[in-house]
Amino acid sequence: MSITEIRVPEMGDFKDVAVIEVHIKPGDDVALDQTLIVLESDKASIDVPSPFAGRVASVELAIGQRVAKGALIATVEVAADVAKPEAAVAAATPIPAATLAPASGAAPDCDVLVIGGGPGGYSAAFRAADLGQRVVLVERDATLGGVCLNVGCIPSKALLHVAAIKEEAERLADHGVAFDTATINLDKLRSFKTGVVAKLTDGLKGMARLRKVEVIRGTATFASAKAVDVELFDGTSRRIVFAKAIVAAGSAPVKLPFLPDDPRIVDSTGALELPFIPDRMLVIGGGIIGLEMATVYSALGARVDVVEQLDRLLPDVDRDVVETWRKRNAHRFDAILLGARVESVVAEKDALVVTTSGEGADVRRYDLILQSAGRRPAAEALQLASAGVTIDARGFIEVDAQMRTRAANIYAVGDVTGNPMLAHKAVHQGHVAAEAATGLKSFMDAKVVPSVAYTDPEIAWVGLTEDAAKAAGHTVEVGKFPWAASGRAIANGTDYGLTKLVFDKETHRIIGGAIVGPAAGDMIGEICLAIEMGADAVDIGKTIHPHPTLGETIGMAAEVAEGVCTDLPLARKRG
Ligand SMILES: Cc1cc2nc3c(=O)[nH]c(=O)nc-3n(C[C@H](O)[C@H](O)[C@H](O)COP(=O)(O)OP(=O)(O)OC[C@H]3O[C@@H](n4cnc5c(N)ncnc54)[C@H](O)[C@@H]3O)c2cc1C
Repeated sequence: MSITEIRVPEMGDFKDVAVIEVHIKPGDDVALDQTLIVLESDKASIDVPSPFAGRVASVELAIGQRVAKGALIATVEVAADVAKPEAAVAAATPIPAATLAPASGAAPDCDVLVIGGGPGGYSAAFRAADLGQRVVLVERDATLGGVCLNVGCIPSKALLHVAAIKEEAERLADHGVAFDTATINLDKLRSFKTGVVAKLTDGLKGMARLRKVEVIRGTATFASAKAVDVELFDGTSRRIVFAKAIVAAGSAPVKLPFLPDDPRIVDSTGALELPFIPDRMLVIGGGIIGLEMATVYSALGARVDVVEQLDRLLPDVDRDVVETWRKRNAHRFDAILLGARVESVVAEKDALVVTTSGEGADVRRYDLILQSAGRRPAAEALQLASAGVTIDARGFIEVDAQMRTRAANIYAVGDVTGNPMLAHKAVHQGHVAAEAATGLKSFMDAKVVPSVAYTDPEIAWVGLTEDAAKAAGHTVEVGKFPWAASGRAIANGTDYGLTKLVFDKETHRIIGGAIVGPAAGDMIGEICLAIEMGADAVDIGKTIHPHPTLGETIGMAAEVAEGVCTDLPLARKRG
């Protein structure tokens, strides 16, 4: 090992430029080509890459300092054979103004390379193309759209739509209209779902073509901070040199190690294939995905149990709302075991024999098991270390508010960057990353990200729950509007629903909200907007909502908080 200096290289016309970013600190490992500092003149910003890999011994520049060619950036500990004077001289290779020096001196094949064609990736690619960048999008699957379009949001919503209509039709018997018992044609149901997915993924393909985004089918791994190697579908490999990259590699289901390998044990992708309708089904994990799939299979005729190791379903959701949902769904489940764990599963010929511990500990037999115990970031296969991109203890790529990783020319968006793992968050981040990579001052500064469980009824929530607001030190004011007092809900037969808003009593501003009932997911956007705009209860209550709608319940919940609601028996005066 020896200590080698890295100095500011020749920069063409620039003689006295400001250091605007420093990406290293003593003790950091740096990769070949990893950006060390960023300089900015009045004409351009310039990334200065490391001429070799090593460990930073000292950093000699600070943000705000002005430098010229030859200024000492850092000293780096490198392996003896790398730290030859010629290697250090490589740092003096001129960096083209306003652009980035690619690995091994080759011109970049594209301005922006995107890895992953899911909501984060295609949104980033399309936004970058719309901003005039030459974009390459690498996707290993046959179609664009990622988990969301192919095996997530869209196919699950197609099935949930059918499930909801079927159950609604059955409930109509109470209103005087009865149908014969529904018959289910699984082949037709599958092809309806496949058709919905194909329509959307084909649409993405067309939009990529129109924007001149080059889509390459293959699996990308980083060779350095300026190049990826793509293992192509035909078995060959191609190196792509990029100026900027956006990683949108998504996530994969957590596999529970103790489950046997058996086709009757599926993850969400397997469950969406609708292999058969089981008599008895176990869902492991009481999160959004588990409850949505439980809703689908139960509507198709399965008896469902849920095992959840926490002491409640949907722990991030307001208790009142979850309780309303649970009462409404009691018919659907034989058992919801909370604070319980699956200890073992034995695959017998005619059943999967499951032993659980905790609440309701027992041995039960099932025909199908869905493991929906969470998802993990798909970062490990990307060889991020070669590019100087770091991950946190849980495997998520570390990013700043511009979605920039520790490598200054590489960004990351979507599930691979952390929770919540949601498509709309990935899209938003994709736009921020594309804009930042193009030099715009865009930031991920949304105050809130809403969530929806598209179960029957739906649950939608955003911002702080009442409990979380109190725990965070807010003096809380709550407005609850039970749908039993909503004309539209009574007419619809959905008077069990609830809309709840949470306000900070000192500022009167809204800080959270949750809705349980049909179309809750379509209504939550109003609460998101109110939070983003810093609205208070008066703003929401005095906004005229159309009558009779379920959306009215949001205005009325705000009126309840204000003590001015005339649709409930007693208007409570604010103290
Ligand atoms: C059953 C289910 C239902 C869901 N429902 C909803 C919902 O209703 N609403 C919602 O907001 N979210 C939902 N989600 C979550 C949502 O699907 C994800 O949050 C979203 O897809 C994340 O987008 P992304 O772009 O980060 O990653 P992904 O959609 O996971 O896309 C990543 C892409 O990168 C590709 N890739 C990975 N590594 C490489 C590589 N090395 N080279 C090339 N390509 C690579 C993958 O093939 C994949 O296509 C659901 C998820 C599931 C599983």
